[in-house]
Amino acid sequence: MKKLLISLLNNHVQKIFIAHASLILSTLGICLGLLVLMIYWLLPLEVASWAWSIVVVVLIINGILLGNFVKELAQKGYTDALTGLPNKGFMYLRLNIDMEKYASEAKEYSLAMVDIDRFKSINDTYGHVVGDRVIKEIARILQENVRSTDQVIRWGGEEFAILLPETSEEGAANLIERIRKLIENHDFGPEIDRKITISAGVVSYKNLLQEIKREKHLTNKTDLIVIFSDRALYEAKKTRNTVSCFSQLKSA
Ligand code: GH3
Ligand code: MG
Ligand code: MG
Repeated sequence: MKKLLISLLNNHVQKIFIAHASLILSTLGICLGLLVLMIYWLLPLEVASWAWSIVVVVLIINGILLGNFVKELAQKGYTDALTGLPNKGFMYLRLNIDMEKYASEAKEYSLAMVDIDRFKSINDTYGHVVGDRVIKEIARILQENVRSTDQVIRWGGEEFAILLPETSEEGAANLIERIRKLIENHDFGPEIDRKITISAGVVSYKNLLQEIKREKHLTNKTDLIVIFSDRALYEAKKTRNTVSCFSQLKSA
């Protein structure tokens, strides 16, 4: 009860602070400024130095609280509320940095796009609450079965992206294929009386290099790797419950 009260209070205080942040902070600044002036004019020097110390401590505490608050807001902005995974905004930030790094070092880097099969029908049959639970469960399975260096992202809706640094296309496809089988055989609870499956498209940056030379108008490495993982996913969707690779598209 006490915990609930504190969290409700925190939420309430946060809401008020967010709505009036400029006013609250500028008023605090004015009050502290006036306080310093009064200390300077009214108090004898030895008392004033104590009072100044208190003002400095207040400023430090204010800075720490504000810093933590900004950090928390920034984290929320890059986190998907349903699954707790990083969101698409975070993915583009990270992918832009990774693409430059891995491309310049000529190291392997792969991206997998994962899509839950016939998810609309899951919602239609069991309702959106169960649908949400399935999304959360698949997010958990993905998260638990990739390596600590990989990053699972909620791309949006019933789609996930997985960033796989220092991984060849074949290595990434093997990992995702193992996860595909795990999900196919996973028990999602008594109310779901059908198999839930995923499809995935996998592409490695190295395998894209030829494409970059051919499609000269596509210069952004991040866009390229996303576009081609999407094409591989499109191919996988033709059969569903399938993992497709970019290199298979080329040889087809
Ligand atoms: P396909 O096998 O071709 O991928 O078919 P699909 O039904 O999975 O794909 P479609 O794009 O037709 O439907 C996706 C559905 O996912 C529609 C949308 O309402 C649902 N959806 C998107 N986000 C959420 C969410 O956060 N929660 C729930 N419960 N449903 C969601
Ligand atoms: Mg989809
Ligand atoms: Mg789908």
